Amino acid sequence: MTAESPFELPLPPAANPAVAIVTALTAAGHEAVLAGGCVRDLLLGQVPHDYDVATDAPPERICELFPKTRKVGMQFGVVLVKKQRRWHEVATYRSDGPYDDGRRPTSVTLSDARHDALRRDFTVNGMFLDPARRLVIDYVGGRADLDARIIRAIGNPDERFAEDHLRLLRAVRFAARLAFPIEPQTLAAIRKHAAALRRVAPERVLDELERMLSAPQRMAAWNLLGDCGLRDHLWPDVAWAPTEVDRIERHLPRLAPAAEFTTVLAVLLAERDPGEIARIARAAKWSNEQQGVVAWLVAHQADLDDPQAPTLADLKRLMAHPAFLALVELTRVRHADLADGTARDAALRTRTSAIAPDQVAPPPLVTGNDLLERGLAPGPLFKNVLDTLYTEQLDERLTARTAALTRLTTLLAERDATSSDGDP
Ligand code: ATP
Ligand code: MG
Repeated sequence: MTAESPFELPLPPAANPAVAIVTALTAAGHEAVLAGGCVRDLLLGQVPHDYDVATDAPPERICELFPKTRKVGMQFGVVLVKKQRRWHEVATYRSDGPYDDGRRPTSVTLSDARHDALRRDFTVNGMFLDPARRLVIDYVGGRADLDARIIRAIGNPDERFAEDHLRLLRAVRFAARLAFPIEPQTLAAIRKHAAALRRVAPERVLDELERMLSAPQRMAAWNLLGDCGLRDHLWPDVAWAPTEVDRIERHLPRLAPAAEFTTVLAVLLAERDPGEIARIARAAKWSNEQQGVVAWLVAHQADLDDPQAPTLADLKRLMAHPAFLALVELTRVRHADLADGTARDAALRTRTSAIAPDQVAPPPLVTGNDLLERGLAPGPLFKNVLDTLYTEQLDERLTARTAALTRLTTLLAERDATSSDGDP
């Protein structure tokens, strides 16, 4: 099957460098087209985030034809070509050999456009665009499925998900992002292979999850993960209690469309204890930063439920954390469960906006040097005295250095009194 159909939409200026690559390849006697996701997005009237080129020119030839190239996946026939300050993926038409581990083909052979279309995952991702002739070249029925708005695996869905288990998550990501239902046989195959998700490298799962859950359509993605039976296989030994799922279904849609991935993870894992979060983070290969933010958000999620409850110092310490805005977001999400939630949000805003930015984490009035000068040796007590003084400073009970030093004298005297109490 091959179908060529006219492409009648304007190409955005962002397509120019990729089109220039196609033109250079065809001028050199090769076949070249725009491929995959960009064709899908252009046909939908959406903005592609990159433009990939597919060609019959072998990788060595691509490297000869362009001055700036980087070989990223020579074994897969992929070369990066720099054009107008951006790197573009230029891939030689290929067909994938057998997959033996559910991840990667054991071999790839350079091939023709039709086979290159057939090795792709979903029909809507399998189209080519010839920018010179302004034709969509479709070997997989992608245009019809795009018009019908469905996600359908190319070829035999059962085999395609058995070959590469990451496609299980990709199906969900595209279905959620485009708001397309998954075609019944494709859906049945996803359900059948769902448990194979456990065998996908955690880094690849993390990347897909980040993409689907950072997107505004995250709620659709979360629901689809459930419908497809993938949710229980995202992370080892993580099952979802019905009450937890209810809460997530209530909270997730309340997040701002642009909410960060870590904020979403904190919503998902809000009921989990620190040990379990640490275990998931390790198994799922989160970055230290991701783990730190999620753990902090979950630990402090309820701190602002009553905006008047934290002391000024506690509030400032929360505000000084890089994820404070995400905490405010989570607080807003939690407040929405309460009848007086809007009033609580307003009270929190009033309290935080009354704090001048330079008062959130001011330089300490008393430092370790002052303690050393008084003959105190570093240790738990040393730290304790500094913490007490800084807390009083954040609380604005100490506002000048002289007062703070006087307070230090008192603290040290109190300490001497207590320690001599204990003396025989
Ligand atoms: P996005 O806009 O999110 O980047 P995309 O369709 O461009 O979507 P990519 O992950 O960039 O997705 O992959 C580019 C193309 O490569 C896809 O459109 C698809 O044709 C093909 N592809 C990517 N991953 C796979 C896979 N695991 N199996 C088969 N084909 C794939
Ligand atoms: Mg892409």
